[in-house]
This record gives sequence, C-alpha cells and structure tokens, in this order.
Amino acid sequence: MRTYHIITYGCQMNENDSEKLAKMLTDLGYEATQDPRSAAILVMNTCSVRENADDKFFGNLGYMKNLKKETGMLIAVCGCMMQQEHIVAKIMKNYPFVDVLFGTHNIEEFPALLSQRLASGKAAYKVKTEGGAIAEGIGAKRRYAYKAYVTIMQGCNNFCSYCIVPYTRGRERSRKATGILQEIKALADDGVKEMMLLGQNVNSYGIADGFKETFPDLLRQINDIEGIKRIRFMTSHPKDLSAELIEAMAECDKVCKHLHLPLQSGSSRILSLMNRRYDQAHYLSLIEQIKTRIPAIGLTTDIIVGFPGESEEDFEETMNVVKTVRFDSAYTFIFSPRKGTKAARYVYDLDKDTIQRRFQRLLETQKVISGENNAALLNKEVEVLAEGPSKSDITRQSGRTDDNRIVNFVGEAKAGEMAKVLITHTKSFYLEGVEKKH
Ligand code: SF4
Repeated sequence: MRTYHIITYGCQMNENDSEKLAKMLTDLGYEATQDPRSAAILVMNTCSVRENADDKFFGNLGYMKNLKKETGMLIAVCGCMMQQEHIVAKIMKNYPFVDVLFGTHNIEEFPALLSQRLASGKAAYKVKTEGGAIAEGIGAKRRYAYKAYVTIMQGCNNFCSYCIVPYTRGRERSRKATGILQEIKALADDGVKEMMLLGQNVNSYGIADGFKETFPDLLRQINDIEGIKRIRFMTSHPKDLSAELIEAMAECDKVCKHLHLPLQSGSSRILSLMNRRYDQAHYLSLIEQIKTRIPAIGLTTDIIVGFPGESEEDFEETMNVVKTVRFDSAYTFIFSPRKGTKAARYVYDLDKDTIQRRFQRLLETQKVISGENNAALLNKEVEVLAEGPSKSDITRQSGRTDDNRIVNFVGEAKAGEMAKVLITHTKSFYLEGVEKKH
C-alpha cells in the first residue's frame, strides 16, 4: 500500500508547500488518497499564525495516534509550527509516535528523512533554524489544472508585533527572476491559465537580495508570457506599495484588478503598537491613488479586532476606514497572542464581551458593504475564469471575476475556460448568473 494523505493548515504558501510534498511522494511511487485511514503516510503541514490552528493540529495529532495504532501508517509533521522550539519539544515529549519531523526551511529534505525513517525504524527529525536560498526545481503536484501557486519569495523582515511569521519562515529571500519565469513558462505550456504569485510581502521582492528587478518589473515580464490569462499576487504590505506597482497593475492586461491590502487596524496608535510602519492617512492615500488609477479595482483586506489596548475610539477609527474604503470583503480576526512575539507580552486588558461586540459590528458592517458593492453588478455582464462545479450547488459552475468576486452560474464553461456571465442575482459574498453565448 503506497498511499499518502496530506492535511494542510493555514495559508496559500502552505498549500504550495503541500503541493511540493505531494510531488516528492509521487516521485517516490506513492499515490494520493482522500481518506487518511487508507494512507501509508500521513503528512500534517502546520500553521502557527493563530492559536486555534495550533489547537486544531494537536487535537488532530491525538486522533491520528489511534489511527496509527490501527493502520500502522507513518506520520510526518512539518510547516511553520515545527520552526518553534517549544512545539518540537512538546511533540518529542507528548507525541513520540511522530515518525518524521521537519521545518519550513528544509522541505526538500523530506524524501531523505522518510528514507532514513524507513531504513532505520527510528524517528527522523530535522529542523533548520535559518532559511537559505529557496530550493529550485522541486516541482509541484498541483491541486488545480487551471491555476498554479508560484512562490516568488519567502520570509519576512517586518516583525509586526503580533506576527510569528518572521520567526517561522525566516528573513526575506527571493527567487531569481529567471527561475520564476522558467517555472511560469512551463506552467503556461502545461495549460495553466492563472498564476498566483506568493510571498509574505511581494512588494519587497528582491530588495533584501539586492536584485535589480523590482516586483513591478517581474509582473511586466510575467505579463508577456504567452498562454496565461491571469496573474494574481499575495500579499502586499501597505508600507511597500509603490506608485510603480500601481502603474504596473494598471498597464499589464493580465494582472488582475484586485488588491489585497491588509489594513489590520484603522487606528494610527494601534498600527504603531503593531509595528506596521504606516498610519491611517498613508493607508487612505494609497487607496485613493489606486482607485484613481484603476477605478475598477477590487479591494480586500485583513483586520484584527481586540489588539491589546484597543480602545473604543481606536475601534471606531477602524470602522471609519472600513466605511470610507468600502472593501469588497475583509478577513476579520480576533487578536490571538503568539508565543515569542512582542504583542504576546503586551497587557491584554479587553474583556471577551467587548471584543465580541466589536467583532460582530465589524462583520455586520462589512457584510452590508460587500452586499452593496456586489449589488452594483446586477444585470451587468462579467468575465469569469471558470473553476468547475460550485461547492454549494453542483448543478452550477463557479468562477471568479478579474476583481476576485465569486460567481456561481448556469452554463457549460469548464474549469480553466473564460466565460461571459450575465449577473441575475447578487448576495453579500457571491454573485449568481447565466453564461452568455455569443
Ligand atoms: S508583514 Fe507583518 S503580518 Fe505580514 S508576514 Fe510579515 S510580520 Fe507577519
């Protein structure tokens, strides 16, 4: 039984890493299975960004212990959590049945660690504390035929006070443009239509490595590659969003008119405590610049509620920015302290009810705005990249607009095909329509 199952927690960068791990296992002759019960190897690729992701992982790991007793499978754990010493110590002490353990800086060593475990019968653990150059040429067993993740850089130098990422993914380092362009050309030849460029802060691509090419330069080169329909990227830090990038987004026809620009808080005081290195005025001026240059831009954001010391006035500042910018959607989170970060040492003085009340208000306000933004598209024609049957109703197709709205539609366009859709109904978080035949 040469089968594997991978459980991925967290962000798209982790999804991309899991696709690389799947490729390594495929090259070793293993086949994917959807059911962990029938897996010879179970990989758990962890995330450490939020406390509940940690809890979820350890809950699942406990369950897998019993499954391992029944089936005899091997368990490999990897990802951001493994870059934290106290987590590795906890696994060694309380979960000694884990067979293979590695971190974010040495995923390419997975096949060797697995062979070591199989040959010796003993657990194989290896975590590198420093991230070197991003390994090239690993390849990926992609989850989707029509879209691909392409990691262009890793790590972060920003040390936002609440964030664990600089400690788990290390300092910023970028792949050389030649490797990225080669990979994207190969993906385009393989029929991939949408490229999602990944990095913790793509706006500072190449800076730490002293590259001549900037992120906007890279976008322009990717835009020239034949066969691609869409280019997306994640994530942008407001302090590094340049006029040059806005210009490249406006000029490159394949670069989607969607910007995910994390706000985190609308209060300049809280932004300073978060070490975000921009204030409310700067954030709003960026939004104005981008809306002026690209009027059809879709804007999404991340917001943290209940950061230590957040007063009622601070929260109102966040609400004001939300109402001023009118984001199309927002990923909202309640602050969760991460061990090892500066904010974990701040005085946490807010009661749960206050935080919950603020969180609810923010959700409701954003829902109304998202609904109103979507309602403006009623009876309009939009172009979508089809992604296959809708998850909520398999009789319909699903796809996304250039500005990142989900559209569920009646039609025949297959995953990877472009379709024109007439919008017939709008909801807060998606649109419905009918494919138009020309
Ligand atoms: S920019 Fe801030 S929030 Fe984003 S990964 Fe870096 S430290 Fe974390």
